[in-house]
Amino acid sequence: MNIIEIENKHGAGTYAKQPLVIVRGQGASLFDADGVEYLDCSSGHGVANLGHANLKVAEAIYKQASTLITLFETFPNDKRAELMKKITSLVNGLDKVFLCNSGTESVEAAFKFARISTGRKNIVAAMRAFHGRTYGSLSATFNKKYREGFEPLVPGFSHVAYNNIEALDKAVNKETAAVILEVVQGEGGVYPANAEYIRAARRICDERGALLIVDEIQTGFGRTGKLFAIQHFGVTPDLLTCAKSLAGGVPMGAVLIGKNVKNLTPGVHGSTFGGNPLSCAAGVAALTVMEEEDLPGQAAAKGEYLMEKLKKIESPDIREVRGLGLMVGIEMKQKVVPYIKALQEKKIIALNAGMTVIRLLPPLVITYEQIDHLVDVLAEVLSIDSIAD
Ligand SMILES: *Cc1c(COP(=O)(O)O)cnc(C)c1O
Repeated sequence: MNIIEIENKHGAGTYAKQPLVIVRGQGASLFDADGVEYLDCSSGHGVANLGHANLKVAEAIYKQASTLITLFETFPNDKRAELMKKITSLVNGLDKVFLCNSGTESVEAAFKFARISTGRKNIVAAMRAFHGRTYGSLSATFNKKYREGFEPLVPGFSHVAYNNIEALDKAVNKETAAVILEVVQGEGGVYPANAEYIRAARRICDERGALLIVDEIQTGFGRTGKLFAIQHFGVTPDLLTCAKSLAGGVPMGAVLIGKNVKNLTPGVHGSTFGGNPLSCAAGVAALTVMEEEDLPGQAAAKGEYLMEKLKKIESPDIREVRGLGLMVGIEMKQKVVPYIKALQEKKIIALNAGMTVIRLLPPLVITYEQIDHLVDVLAEVLSIDSIAD
């Protein structure tokens, strides 16, 4: 049996598998078993911000793996302390951190912290939101596609229109534990928040004693042109969830915690793998690379360059090009799966976001030549008018 057949036979069946085996990566490139190069514009949904096979991260992993891989958080550790110090220096006012292993776990932790902190039950989320696939985060996720068949979900969750201050104002009251928002909705179709909306969310939460959670799992670590997308707006949330590119590709999640969050005492939450020295070492290395190579600055400059070029593509099928930094959506007038397939045939790996949006999340180290190539191929593919089914 070949690799694809084995995965199809033994995988749980929960993924729509591509007919393409990837065995290696370098920078913004991925390679198949025959050495054919693909330009990765997905970064594993925003994980590989540093590019693939970053040497500094690889060295840190090797070094830590041969020193100490695992240690429960009850025992302090040099690498964990280093990571904690570094990650809590990134956002003014978020001085504490809970470490876990994935995005959804960081969202679950944030919800537990919001409830234990406020003594309230309700969470207000946004329509089109994606926060993960375990029960708490799934309850905050909006799209039926993820929710249907899994009810009953967690009680206390409601959804309001995104970027609509009035709707949020109506929904948040004295029983609201927290509001959770993405700063740019990712899975929902690459919709950036308005500055006024994010500022109003902060004000509304403050007025009613609710906590503001921002989910930066996809927008974090340079993706949008700032280290965190919320920093475009000068707003500090009470809880900030992150994961994806935090540890350069090694599984790791974190919740950054502000001073309004109370009652976090021993036993309130925990994680066997959370804060393990291996992930922490990878995290320290990844954050150091982000800083040294100014990846947020690179994303800002390259994102602007890419968007400008994309806006010049003349195709009657493009409805809108939008995004922030290197988180870019091309909304089409028809379904995008055929475009994604055509791109892949031309050795470009892109994502969809919903039915009609092509989503580009390249590694932030993508070169300008690679961006030019991407735009050339997109221009070609997007002007094929027989492509839609
Ligand atoms: C990917 C993602 C999650 C879930 O992260 P997992 O690591 O897959 O659990 C949650 N929120 C947002 C905004 C995401 O992009």
